Amino acid sequence: MKASRVTKEQLEDRYEDFDGLCAYCRREMGINSEIDHIIPMAKGGLDIIENLVYACSSCNQSKNSHDLIPWLRSRPNYEEKLELKLLSVFPYLPLLFLDYYE
Ligand SMILES: [Zn+2]
Repeated sequence: MKASRVTKEQLEDRYEDFDGLCAYCRREMGINSEIDHIIPMAKGGLDIIENLVYACSSCNQSKNSHDLIPWLRSRPNYEEKLELKLLSVFPYLPLLFLDYYE
């Protein structure tokens, strides 16, 4: 396995990007914070900071290897502000989900 190129500082910055809350539901993560790959590694996602967020274990398990935007919008607690926050940190997302940003 390759050594991760993600630094502790990058991870701390990412944590702050979402105010220490779960990136997917904006709730407190407590001790259950997990690092999720926006593009799942199973689908070729890379272990780089541009692909990493902190999520609660509930969201992380729910997302699993689903594609982010369709998964997010299908959730019962979906709110547009959740998506807008993700887009502000990951401005490349619309390029991956062109069908959802017409
Ligand atoms: Zn969550």
